[in-house]
Amino acid sequence: MRLAVLSDIHANLAALDAVCADLPQVDQVWVLGDIVGYGPQPNEVIARLQELGARAVTGNHDGAAIGTVDTSWFNPDAAAAIRWTATVLDPASTAYLAALPTVRTDGELTAVHGSPRQPIWEYITDAGIAAANLDAFATRHCLYGHTHLPLIYRADESRMTVVPATTADAIALDVRRTLINPGSVGQPRDGKPDASYLLLDVEAGRAEFRRVRYDIALTQRLMREVSLPPWLIERLAVGR
Ligand code: ZN
Repeated sequence: MRLAVLSDIHANLAALDAVCADLPQVDQVWVLGDIVGYGPQPNEVIARLQELGARAVTGNHDGAAIGTVDTSWFNPDAAAAIRWTATVLDPASTAYLAALPTVRTDGELTAVHGSPRQPIWEYITDAGIAAANLDAFATRHCLYGHTHLPLIYRADESRMTVVPATTADAIALDVRRTLINPGSVGQPRDGKPDASYLLLDVEAGRAEFRRVRYDIALTQRLMREVSLPPWLIERLAVGR
């Protein structure tokens, strides 16, 4: 079964549409949370995910936008964007976000936003944190987002190996356990502004990272029109 794995779309419809245009035939679309927040088109992004029949989990921004996650941990720009998002979410979008689970499992896959042991808030930023999370999920692979950085942590004997998210070749998956981050569709932070996502085929043992150019200027213009914070607008152009 072939999956597209998307994360941290952050209400960036231009980026999501570019990813959809790039998608080959897939059986399912999985979304690892932070569907809204930061960006200018939360309702439109949710509608698109519903059209795709996406299997999604919730992220910290999704909960914050509907008032179920405390924004006191958010930086001022993120909190300002959440306040704006909360004012424009329509009832159908609010209901969609409210119904999202924090964890999904299916076959060899677990999906969360942050980490398996703290699905909403923990950032998996190094191999030690990745290793400490191996006991918190029972499947072979765990898909996560939240850091906006594409890569794979693989359990090799007693240590975790970092497998970089090269787009040159597909990455082979085998019996070794992994934590896999597809990167961010709507606000990449690895210095590359192109939207990031992953194609995954567990049975075939293949993970393929993809980068897609999108109309960044369009998203920036829409953000300016609704007075979202300047840094959130500028960072899209530099991928930080
Ligand atoms: Zn995010």
